Amino acid sequence: MPSAIHHDDVVPTAIPLKLSEDGMAINYDDPTSWNVTAAPAVYRSKNKIRSVVAGLDLTHTSSTKPLINLGLGDPTVFNLHPPSEASISAVQEALLSGGANGYVPGTGDRAACAAVARYHQKWDGVSYQAEDVTLCHGATHALDMCFSIMTSPGHNVLIPSPGFPAYETLLGNIQDCEIRTYECLPDRGWECDVEQMESLIDDKTSFVLITNPSNPCGNNMHPDHLRRIVALAERKKISIIADEIYGHMQWSEHPFVPLASLSTQVPIVTLSGLSKRFLLPGWRFGWIVLHDPSNHAHAIRHALHCWGNRIMGPCSLIQKALPRILDETPDAWFKEVVGKLENNAITCYDRLTRIPGLYCTFPTAAMYLLLGIDISHFPEFDSDVDFCSALVKEQALFCIPGQSFGIDNHMRLVIAAPNAVLVDACERLEEFCLKHYV
Ligand SMILES: *Cc1c(COP(=O)(O)O)cnc(C)c1O
Repeated sequence: MPSAIHHDDVVPTAIPLKLSEDGMAINYDDPTSWNVTAAPAVYRSKNKIRSVVAGLDLTHTSSTKPLINLGLGDPTVFNLHPPSEASISAVQEALLSGGANGYVPGTGDRAACAAVARYHQKWDGVSYQAEDVTLCHGATHALDMCFSIMTSPGHNVLIPSPGFPAYETLLGNIQDCEIRTYECLPDRGWECDVEQMESLIDDKTSFVLITNPSNPCGNNMHPDHLRRIVALAERKKISIIADEIYGHMQWSEHPFVPLASLSTQVPIVTLSGLSKRFLLPGWRFGWIVLHDPSNHAHAIRHALHCWGNRIMGPCSLIQKALPRILDETPDAWFKEVVGKLENNAITCYDRLTRIPGLYCTFPTAAMYLLLGIDISHFPEFDSDVDFCSALVKEQALFCIPGQSFGIDNHMRLVIAAPNAVLVDACERLEEFCLKHYV
């Protein structure tokens, strides 16, 4: 194991940016220099994980403990579970068939789109046609595409806090788009503050984005709560972007209920893909499905078609393999993965909630535990960033501070690791807290 984490292990490398004070491209006055600059949009981009983690000292001094990196939200890091056999053999077959080497339609191969529609019909109980589907390079590209086509200059959008940092990174590149954040409340099991959400919506609001199940909160919202959100969007006549990349990865008492299944009026743009539930983030395959039961969203439907044709869709091999991946990955395989995550959630929750100075709600979905730090009991540390810095240094345990997700005095643990690794991580946290708690 490496003895230090590099910042680039946590977030992908970006071009080193040279910023002027107003955040625009630097204007080099030197007439002998080359006139090579990047677009202003590049300089508007922020990455909260990057900026917060950059402030951490990631070298650790523990000579006996190998590093445990619970930072990356990638379910393959610890080999939690192998991909389904169907996924592997479907790609082999697609490759060997020789029939998947050409360009496919920009919004996706028809058979692949039909398979996505079938998948959501089966799991979500929502009826889709192949035409409602747009295939993308991972859900991040799906987000980028939705943000590009669903924002207008001078308008605003609502995203959750704490939330997935890529939302702000991607929206930050869009000119003249105001980002408003609504809170997810720890003492209500991370449900959204719907009153606050309502107060933030005005006649310039383009959409509200809901992440369910949530990264970083690890919760699966109750259907009644989701109904309130849909009712609000209906009253305000705005659409919802539903980031459901963790859809069905849950072990809560109530089922996972997709937002689209609750709407008869509100256009719901749902994002999903292979990265999390199928444990295949590196394949970069995601999609958008549009649920528009009352035909209010012609503009979005048209825009998705236009935008899909800009870069001609994701890899043809995975598109060719997709029907088999979605149709033939057995229900039992999903169950095994969720079973492991649930077991990990129980282990971590039991161990962490008896450590002085830490608190959390029981995670019931996705693959994260968002741990509260009662920082007043740790006077050596000013913030969760300090706390996480010292934790790497002394215990060789790396977790991302809550600030990266927009919440102070928290840290996010990835629970998609073997149970024994998580037990070790909890023991290190306990030793660390017992040493520093007052
Ligand atoms: C991981 C993740 C995504 C994006 O995944 P891709 O790897 O781009 O498919 C989108 N939303 C949330 C909340 C995520 O955690």
